[in-house]
Amino acid sequence: MRRSKAKLPGLTRRDFLTQSAGSLIVTSAGPLLAEPAASLESPDSQRAPWYSSMRRCGQINFNERDPLAMDVTAWADYWASLKVNAVLLNGGGIVAFYPTRVPYHHRSEFLGSRDLFGEMTAAMKKRNLRVVARMDCNYAYEEALKAHPEWFERNADGTPRRHNESTWLYKTCMFTSYFTEQMPAIYREINQRYAVDGFFTNGWPSTGALAVCFCESCKKVYRDEVGGTPPGETAGSDPVYRKYYDVYIDRVLEVWKKWDGIAKEKSPDSVYVGNLGGGIRTVKSVKRLAEVAGWFNADHQGRSGDTPLWDCSQQGRVAQSVMKDRAITNVTGAYSNSRPVWRHVAKAPAEATLWMAQTTASGMVPWFHWLGGAPEDNRWREAGRSFFTWLAAHEPHFQNKRSIADIAVLYPQSTIAFYRSGNASGSWRGAERAQTSEYLQGLYYALLEGRFLFDFVHQENLSAETLRKYRALLIPNAAYLRDAECARIADFVAAGGSLLATFETSLYNEWGDPRPDFALSSVFGASAAGSVIGPFGNSYARIEQTHPVLNGFEGTALLPGAENRVPVRASEKARLILSVVPYYPAFPPEMVFPRTPRTEEPAAVFRQSGKSRVAYFAGDIDRTFWRSGNTDLSLLIQNSVRWLLDDARQPVTVAGEGMTELFAWETAPGYALHILNYNNPNMTRGFVRRFYAIGPQKVEFEVAAGKKITGVRALRAGGDLPFTQRDRTVRFEVPTVVDYEVAALV
Ligand SMILES: [Zn+2]
Repeated sequence: MRRSKAKLPGLTRRDFLTQSAGSLIVTSAGPLLAEPAASLESPDSQRAPWYSSMRRCGQINFNERDPLAMDVTAWADYWASLKVNAVLLNGGGIVAFYPTRVPYHHRSEFLGSRDLFGEMTAAMKKRNLRVVARMDCNYAYEEALKAHPEWFERNADGTPRRHNESTWLYKTCMFTSYFTEQMPAIYREINQRYAVDGFFTNGWPSTGALAVCFCESCKKVYRDEVGGTPPGETAGSDPVYRKYYDVYIDRVLEVWKKWDGIAKEKSPDSVYVGNLGGGIRTVKSVKRLAEVAGWFNADHQGRSGDTPLWDCSQQGRVAQSVMKDRAITNVTGAYSNSRPVWRHVAKAPAEATLWMAQTTASGMVPWFHWLGGAPEDNRWREAGRSFFTWLAAHEPHFQNKRSIADIAVLYPQSTIAFYRSGNASGSWRGAERAQTSEYLQGLYYALLEGRFLFDFVHQENLSAETLRKYRALLIPNAAYLRDAECARIADFVAAGGSLLATFETSLYNEWGDPRPDFALSSVFGASAAGSVIGPFGNSYARIEQTHPVLNGFEGTALLPGAENRVPVRASEKARLILSVVPYYPAFPPEMVFPRTPRTEEPAAVFRQSGKSRVAYFAGDIDRTFWRSGNTDLSLLIQNSVRWLLDDARQPVTVAGEGMTELFAWETAPGYALHILNYNNPNMTRGFVRRFYAIGPQKVEFEVAAGKKITGVRALRAGGDLPFTQRDRTVRFEVPTVVDYEVAALV
């Protein structure tokens, strides 16, 4: 798709989308998309690859013992019954499930005379399903370690790294020839012997933190390319780490491209796809990974602990922010991937269903995953089958052409990856690292409560072309931004766009080197006047004057203050709307009174220039909201967004009771509004046990000028919905939403 785009320099993005969507429809007309499609072969060798139009994937993850018990026909029938386009099957890597001849490629001890991978591949092909060989490049047996000690990661003392549970396996190093010779030899063997359509690697490269290894190859990399010794700490403040980060990502891309090239030796239509994902908490540059990825697979299988329900939708938004129109899949684990984990029992079907619903609502393709070829728990099967067959029955309505949101949320990857709080409390470590995403999490929660439609825009994708469709850009403490990124944000505002930003946004470069003032100081109308103050509870924002952002706060002169704030000076004589009331003791009650009840320090600055409106909050109100759940802070954020839009309507509004997440897409046949029902006591602590239906939901949907809507259909409930159309506005009511509803406008 990117190549097609490069070929069409004279077209606008809209024209391009229309064209590429058109080609999607043609391709997907094939039976199950599975045949090599000679009849669809276009003289244009650049036609979209098979995976760009896949809509459903399945994966059965073999274990070493499976050759003893696996029923090939039953499995192939199961996946065919889900109407999947592609199935992931274990080829090799740690364990070969076919009679490999590659040295040190460990055959399953239970393989005997079987060729399980070959049998399964043939069975899938017989049912017209694509096959992607699922590989594992991360570990190998001691036999390989003895023959090729240079393939393996080492601790600082030189010892190899054993797997923490399966201690007979050793961790391989991606800077060694294991990745450039051994894995390629295995891929080529599989390519040669089997009708595979691509390769996927479990676990690699991931989007998580970078590993530091002390093997001979890595020592050489540090010496020759990084210029030093292995970085002691994975912190953006360390200049060695910064260099290492670039060298590391370069190596990932080099390996990815090499493996994709090997996949394509078989057919230009074949592909290598790496393991990505991790939701909003990414460390490796998803922007750079996406540059080589024809297909982005988010291995984001479920949630545990107090992870909010919308974690999968967020994954979709992150992937969309870097992949544009290319293929994105997300894995749903059918097993109980809670903490503790159970690999061989099903998770609650309601939880699995809502995860798959988020996958499709956010524009990704669901990939349903079970472990082990001889399950003793079979309850998971129906959750996948019923959702996937429903998807297949309505497939054209999931072929998205574009999101129709007009609000952008900046995805602040540098801050999420590297940020250390600006105050004196020092580095965040371990699980606390999740704190860097809490600014985004708080803004997100408020946007869901306000029922806004929005997209993520990656901080490295802020081109005028990308931003043109958005009326407002919301920035949840993007403390770490490049100069060029700040310039693009300023350009967006100068061109009439509206902006909300919080806390330390633009106060550092992308690695965390402080600037003397916000790079966006003139946009905010505020300058930093000192170091971050906090964390303090029991501080406040005083309402000094009426303003639209304060609607609903009649009856109070005080609002809850942010836990941390940058002390700021308004750079022009702006009206003081909200002033800071500094912290005072919260205990004991006798001591609880303000020592400085009134200050001139702005808690926020609101500016207006032409069409553009800017709201800058000096405190971390987004993160404070996420941590406290305080409803005033959510309302303040929602009011601010409405003010940015000048109270003009969004392209789609959905009014009704209940906690929802909304997506709206222009689709191949028209439009689709996706409503996810999060109204559930398990919204912020899994697993969802059952659904609590909401409704009715009154919808107003703006369609393109001149577009005549002829029907509105509720795809999940089934049935047509009465509607009216006046000019561009289509009005209808969704009577109820049980788990998820898709209203299709055609
Ligand atoms: Zn190494």
